[in-house]
Amino acid sequence: MFDKILIANRGEIALRVIRACREMGIQSVAVHSTADADAMHVRMADESVCIGPPAGAQSYLSIPAIISACEITGAQAIHPGYGFLSENANFVQIVEDHGLTFIGPSAAHIRIMGDKITAKETAKELGIPVVPGSDGGVPDLASAKAAASDMGYPVIIKATAGGGGRGMKVARDEAELEVAFSTARSEAKAAFGNDEVYMEKYLQKPRHIEVQVFGDGKETGLHLAERDCSLQRRHQKVFEEAPGPSISPEERARIGKICADAVGKMGYSGAGTVEFLYEDGEFYFIEMNTRLQVEHPVTEGIFGVDLVREQIRVAAGLPLSFTQDDLVINGHAIEVRINAEKLPNFSPCPGKITAFHAPGGLGVRMDSALYDGYSIPPYYDSLIGKLIVHGRDRPEALARLSRALGELIVDGVDTTVPLFHALLQERDVLTGDYDIHWLERWLDENMAG
Ligand code: ADP
Repeated sequence: MFDKILIANRGEIALRVIRACREMGIQSVAVHSTADADAMHVRMADESVCIGPPAGAQSYLSIPAIISACEITGAQAIHPGYGFLSENANFVQIVEDHGLTFIGPSAAHIRIMGDKITAKETAKELGIPVVPGSDGGVPDLASAKAAASDMGYPVIIKATAGGGGRGMKVARDEAELEVAFSTARSEAKAAFGNDEVYMEKYLQKPRHIEVQVFGDGKETGLHLAERDCSLQRRHQKVFEEAPGPSISPEERARIGKICADAVGKMGYSGAGTVEFLYEDGEFYFIEMNTRLQVEHPVTEGIFGVDLVREQIRVAAGLPLSFTQDDLVINGHAIEVRINAEKLPNFSPCPGKITAFHAPGGLGVRMDSALYDGYSIPPYYDSLIGKLIVHGRDRPEALARLSRALGELIVDGVDTTVPLFHALLQERDVLTGDYDIHWLERWLDENMAG
């Protein structure tokens, strides 16, 4: 096992990893930008190294700075968290070339899944059902039109190198396609430095269902059921739950086994998420994330396992500490993402926290790097906390969420907490009857400027 792990991240996810390290008796090293000198992850880690100025590109994304920080502190492994360098195959290669261990899958697996076209082809070969779409990249408008008339409108144009819900455009007819195709390409170029796009049938009322998988890097793959992350704003998740309220035990076992077998066949190492759209009883693969997800705590909630601990074990060459049969779902868990944003426009709202009180009690978990007097810097994303609740069933989890939100105090900045209070009054949320477009429609009707 490692003696010391460096965490190449900040905020709540850095704390999450530090906590797992501490329970395993492993020393932790935080890295931080000058803007984060007073951040909680710096205070909580055993050691810390300043790796650059505020801009992410010069600090949390600076590969030389992070490798040097490992060399200075003697850290043997790097946990990337999510975002930043977590899905950068080039980084993984450099880490390995320096004799360090990357806590995550191989560079080759990250590369396959990071390119959405190769990802879809690979998924298909492994027996995973995919969304009908173009065969690979779509080079020009004429091919786009041909592909669209083959699959039928509406269609969605997506960046091959995409991520974070950016660079996607929907077209309902040929006139819309002409505009959408060129904007999707130029946005892809600007955001990802690669203007290749592909197309898919645009599903009208799917749910977003994702399967948590784990591989031991040899031939064992297993699954930890699914999360439903259908409540999204601008393709970004805001409310996640496990298990999925619309998925039957039979469907869970079927899709779970398909994903677990695929991961085993690939020789995949560590945690991953296979993302699907789910409509009329069918699963359609959209992508695989080769890292820990923001919403992993709901899975931890229903299985009572520590996914970060498991990632570290697998990276150290140890076997998985559970088998598929050990994994039995217990109750229901829900996570809400609390952002420092001002409603109704969700504009970022950095600033000084004048009071912070985290809720507690049975079945309540608050993952947050906030503290009284902390100043949220304006340079990074606006997630300031995740409130996760667990109950014996979905109604109990919902009641607990409402109770816990009532106890939470975050003063000094605007947050998305009022959104969740409002959502918990909605019958569709209470019954679990929503698709990926539900929240956008609700926001239009209830929060338009
Ligand atoms: P990203 O990597 O940018 O997050 P994804 O491919 O995972 O992109 O898609 C993100 C979200 O976009 C999905 O959860 C869904 O809401 C929407 N989406 C993606 N593909 C389709 C599709 N074919 N039909 C309808 N909605 C889609």
